[in-house]
This record gives sequence, structure tokens and C-alpha cells, in this order.
Amino acid sequence: MPLRSALFSQRSLLLTLLLLLGCGFLATSLVSYYASRSAIRDGIINTELPLTSDTVYSEIQKDLIRPIVVSSMLAQNTLLRDWTLAGEHDPEVMTRYLSEVERQQRAYTAFYVSEASGIYYQAKGILKKIDPSTPRDLWYARVKQMQAPYEINVDMDMANKDRMTVFINYKVLDEQNRFMGAAGVGLTVDAVVKLIDAYQLRYKRSVYFVDPRGQIVLTGSTGGPEGARPGTTLQSIPSLARLVERMPIPSTGSREYQRDDQLHFLNVRFIPELDWYLFVEKPVGASLDGVKQSLYLNLAICAIISAVVLAMINGMVRRHQDGIQELATLDSLTHLHNRRAFDLLAAQALLDAERGALPLTAVLIDLDHFKELNDTHGHLAGDEVLRQFARLLEGSLRQADILCRWGGEEFVVLLKDTELAKGMAVAEKIRQRTERSEFTFDASRVSLTASFGVTGLASGDTLRSLIARADQALYRAKQSGRNRVCSEPASPEHA
Ligand code: GH3
Ligand code: MG
Ligand code: MG
Repeated sequence: MPLRSALFSQRSLLLTLLLLLGCGFLATSLVSYYASRSAIRDGIINTELPLTSDTVYSEIQKDLIRPIVVSSMLAQNTLLRDWTLAGEHDPEVMTRYLSEVERQQRAYTAFYVSEASGIYYQAKGILKKIDPSTPRDLWYARVKQMQAPYEINVDMDMANKDRMTVFINYKVLDEQNRFMGAAGVGLTVDAVVKLIDAYQLRYKRSVYFVDPRGQIVLTGSTGGPEGARPGTTLQSIPSLARLVERMPIPSTGSREYQRDDQLHFLNVRFIPELDWYLFVEKPVGASLDGVKQSLYLNLAICAIISAVVLAMINGMVRRHQDGIQELATLDSLTHLHNRRAFDLLAAQALLDAERGALPLTAVLIDLDHFKELNDTHGHLAGDEVLRQFARLLEGSLRQADILCRWGGEEFVVLLKDTELAKGMAVAEKIRQRTERSEFTFDASRVSLTASFGVTGLASGDTLRSLIARADQALYRAKQSGRNRVCSEPASPEHA
């Protein structure tokens, strides 16, 4: 195979392998990334957020139980009922009693509204007279009508700087179960805010409450989404547009939505006691950081493995190719260049000599009576002698000279930048060394001679004409008794 196409096929093999390894590793890494991502997503949507929602809900319920008990004691207190039935003469009695309750149950504000007088009593004195026609007092009419003994209502507390308050409105009934008024406590939502803060901090998720119309009613101290304060509607927060599109009014369930280019998971649950929806949400980004990091690590490991595999394959292919190259250009017995390599090297040497107008001498060498040696000592001995003669030739020439096994027991040498006379001298030196050498095989030694045909490169010469002249010289060396160096001058047309 020509060298260029071998290189090309090696490059395309490496590229194909790189592509296969790259695609394979990328595919498996991405599959495992998406599998982990979806497992995390399922975990958040199906377990984490509902669990937080349940916990927050039960904490709120727990926080509401105590005020309900306090309100029930207040509403069933005989002092309160007797004082009312006696005509509510001294408001001091009631306000003292209410402030006593507040003192004992800190964090609550106590109140009593008498049906008979319509007066709203609280710890600091008489607040006002109930006016069923104003929206603020609608709650009282509702309590009067309701079947249940109490309700939980979230409202502004007029007696407490209009702060958002959870009221437990208990019905006060006389012994005949007639409606006497409403009593109970108000619990500011500060406690719930603290609870929300704790959850947000501990679990890195946002918790807030929204009323059925989509208005944020209660958040942690840092606010709701985008820091929105209570009173803001979800619709008015631009980054929630995608969510509001899919959920115009709050509804229970788990969903995911895009917010500022980031995926958010959201769990919504209705809290009947408050008539609010509890929103628990978490941006997916932080939870996927770990998975993303392992994806990058995976890809880095894959890249290293690919690089090592490709480097190993590249090395193997190169060694294999060098082996093939050697097989294709070297003679297997003597490890000298074969004819094929010689043709290429000689063509280049002739071109260089012509271009540089440099002399070049060709020497054709043939071992004398080699057939006899084979016949006497065997073919293997002949092989060994050929190998040793090849080393002798190598040792007698310069690195730049071109030496080749021409075939059988014949060798050819091209001496670069060498005049004919100098070439003859080189041939003579080799002839003498051959003559003086002993060639060994097994325990035997043999002497050997060789004949040399020498000729110089002339203008207009081709490799073929050059070798043909050297062959003529060799023929004359053989004819004239062997073990000698003969030369052949260039014929007139080549001179
Ligand atoms: P001459 O002096 O005229 O060159 O006589 P010669 O016997 O050397 O010449 P001839 O061409 O008659 O014989 C060449 C011999 O070289 C015959 C062949 O068996 C032997 N030969 C050629 N190649 C190899 C080889 O690779 N190994 C061995 N052992 N012998 C070889
Ligand atoms: Mg021969
Ligand atoms: Mg011979």
C-alpha cells in the first residue's frame, strides 16, 4: 500500500475510533445524567416537597390547638356569662379578665363581643361597638350563624395595629344554648413566619401561603417569590407568568415550571382551617449541581480513557505499519534493501546526482562459484554466508551509499558523489576484504571471492542503462578469471 494511503487509512481509523468512543461515552454519560436527573426530580416532586408541605401543615395545626383550647375556656367561663347576664355593668371586670388571659397566654390577644350590647371588649378596654353592616365586622354575623362551636379566621387585628392575626372565634352560649356572643384569642402570625423561616433555611426551599384568589398572604421574613410581600398577587410577579398561565388560581398538586430560565418544582396544598394554599417550592438548579459535577467528571474520565486508548492503538498501528514497511522494502535473508526499495532510492539518487552535477558510481557484485558452496555445504550454509557477506558490505560502505541485494548471490551498490576511479578503489577494497575473510557456519569456515562490475553515471543514463553497463563490466570480470574488479566506460551516446 502506498505510504500516503496507509497514513490516510490510519488517520481515518483513529478518527472513526475517536468518533465511536466519543459518541459511546457521551451517550452513556448523558443517559446516566438524565436518569439521575429524573430520579432527583421524582424525589423532589413526589417525596421532598409533599413531605415539607405535610410537616409545615402539621406544625401549623399544632400551633393552632393551644389557642383553640384557650378560646374554649374563655367562651365557657362562668364569670363571663354571669357578668353578661347581669347586664355588663362594669366593663373594668371584663377588660381585667381579658388582660389576665393575655398575661397568662402570652402571644395571644383575648377578646369578647357581647350579643346583648354589641360591644367588642379587649384587654385594653372597650374597642368599639360591632356594626354588622361594615365588612370588617362581617365575621361576627358569620360566627353567629355557624353550626360549629368555633372557627379559625385570618384577619387584621384592629386592637393590634392591624397586624395579620389568626383569630379563634368561639361561640359563647348560655345554659339554654342561646347565642350570647363570641370570645376567643388572636394569634399574630409572627410565630408562623418564624416557622417558615426555619423551614426555608433548613431545607433550602421557599414556603409561603396564598389565598384562593392568588394573593400572597403569608411568607417568611424575606418575603415570597422575588421577595414579594403579603398582599402581592402571583399574577403581578413577572417571573411567575409561566406558572400563572398554567395555574390561574391556586389548586392543590405538584407541578414544575420555568422561572428565569431555571426549572422550579412546586407543591401546592389547601389548608381548610385557614382557607389558604400552602406553596412549597424549590429551584431544581442546586439539587442538580452534584449530578452535573458527576457528569463532567464522567466526561473527563471518558476523555482520558479515549485519549489513552487512541494513543495505544496509534502506537500499535504505527509499529504494525513499520513492520509491514520493513517487510515490503527489506530483504528477509540479509536485511538489506530489496529491489523494490532500491528502485525508489536509486531513482532519487540519480535525480540528485543529475541536479547537482555530481558523480555517481554503480558497483554490481556477484559471489564466485557460489553454487559449489551450496552444493558442498548445503543451502543453509549458503544462506549464512550471504548474511555475513551482507554485513561485510555494510561495514565497507558509507551511510549515504545505497546497498541492495539484487537477487541470489548478487548485490548492487550506488556510491553517491563518487568518481569512477574512487568507486573502483572502493570495489577493490571490498574484493580484498572478501578474499581475506573467513565465513563461518556451524563449525566450518570457508573462504570466498567475489567479482565486481563498476561503471560511472553518464549524462542521459537511466538506472537501467547504468546497471546494464555495470553488468557488462561484471561479465568481463567473470570472463577474465573472477575475483577481480572490472569497469565499463560509458558508451559514446552516454558520454
Ligand atoms: P559464478 O562464479 O559464475 O557466479 O558461479 P555461481 O555458482 O556463483 O553462479 P550461478 O548463477 O551458477 O549460481 C548461483 C547460485 O547461488 C545458485 C543458487 O542456488 C545460489 N543461490 C541463489 N540465491 C541463494 C540463496 O538465497 N541462498 C543460497 N543458499 N543460495 C542461493
Ligand atoms: Mg550470479
Ligand atoms: Mg555467482
